Amino acid sequence: MIRTHYSTQITPDMNGSSITVCGWAHEIRDLGGITFLVVRDREGPVQVTLFKKTIDKNVLEIVRGLSRESVVAVTGTVKKEAKAPNGYELVPTAVTVLGRAESPLPMDTTGKVDADLDTRLDARFMDTRRPGTQAIFRIRHLMLKSVRDYLAREGFVEITTPKVVATATEGGTALFPITYFEREAFLNQSPQLFKQLMMSGGLDRVFEIGPIFRAEEHDTRKHLNEATSIDIEASFLDNEDVMVILENLVKHVYSSVAEDEARHLKTLGIEVKVPKTPFKRVAYDEAIDIARDHGEKIEWGDDLTTESEHSIGETIGEHYFIVDWPTKIKPFYAQPYENKPEICRAFDMMHPRMELSSGAQRVHSYETLRSRIEAQGLNADSFEFYLKAFRFGMPPHAGWGLGAERLLMTMLGIDNIREVVLFPRDRKRLSP
Ligand code: ATP
Ligand code: MG
Repeated sequence: MIRTHYSTQITPDMNGSSITVCGWAHEIRDLGGITFLVVRDREGPVQVTLFKKTIDKNVLEIVRGLSRESVVAVTGTVKKEAKAPNGYELVPTAVTVLGRAESPLPMDTTGKVDADLDTRLDARFMDTRRPGTQAIFRIRHLMLKSVRDYLAREGFVEITTPKVVATATEGGTALFPITYFEREAFLNQSPQLFKQLMMSGGLDRVFEIGPIFRAEEHDTRKHLNEATSIDIEASFLDNEDVMVILENLVKHVYSSVAEDEARHLKTLGIEVKVPKTPFKRVAYDEAIDIARDHGEKIEWGDDLTTESEHSIGETIGEHYFIVDWPTKIKPFYAQPYENKPEICRAFDMMHPRMELSSGAQRVHSYETLRSRIEAQGLNADSFEFYLKAFRFGMPPHAGWGLGAERLLMTMLGIDNIREVVLFPRDRKRLSP
């Protein structure tokens, strides 16, 4: 191992000890009698100070010849220095260039020049060197970890389902076709059908965090063509039960991030306010009334437009659920109410800015499911692999899918979904 310490592991009271740090040459300032090199590693900066009088000539030569953003290993002696940024500086005995950076750089990493999003995404490998961008992905890591911790504690088993599939989850649009040997196949839009199979399969409570692919031609700040979905499915629970799991999960994620990522939140200059539970339950009928009061032209049975989502969100002002949706605008697997089949046990979980999750209690009767598939104009025979599981002992069950990127962007108050995914896939972007 080349490195002995991360920047944040060095303290002034290590005065006199010899250590090695590794990182990028963030800044080189040559003041004649003294040269400063700021080395930046994942955790932060280290000031390396070279005194012309006492420094080894070769070391000075190497530092003076360094290009910005080259990767270096610096071995040196820690010197307590009240005037240095962290209360110490490093006086080098050896500097090795491990990876030279060409110039000019594809983008600025100092934060002095504002690069536009496209430039940053084209040079993502350099963009993530910036503390602000890196903070987002460090928080994303913790968010997913806290999701796993929470669901595991609630008895959920993590599963992995195929992304290459033979049939659409909910019908033919919005699918990416691919060539699978001599057949046509598709990239999966959602793990929906597979997680339901595992209810018949006896796993009882499952979750998956994985990619979903949507071939919609949208160009918005909240849609990706490849997104990450946090999905659960649970047996012997109803719609209300899985809504409680969902709101508690959101609360848990917010508190974990607020507690454990204070440093990264500070870098981003934001504060995370933990939402209160239970979230408000707003019936679909009530929701469209609010939208109409705001001048939206919306009929019973219409899906909510972005504008309606905004006006309802502004009125409610915090996370909320929309429940009791018209059956005809929800997927075939949502369970209609027994006494009022024109509405169903489906829900959306909303942040004031946008939808975060959709879920439902599912149809678990084979006959009902078959007729619901046909009623939605789909060919039930192509769902045979799925329907079969409902003929041999399927428990009642419910679940939801929660967009990981949307959860993160709304938690951090980030405008564009492309900011919270390393390599976004959208209508125009396929590389890197
Ligand atoms: P929207 O109406 O906002 O496009 P949807 O209702 O089509 O979303 P669902 O099929 O309900 O989406 O998927 C469940 C969740 O997955 C959504 O609430 C959202 O958080 C996330 N999601 C779905 N599609 C996308 C996408 N294209 N980009 C990012 N996240 C998505
Ligand atoms: Mg939805």
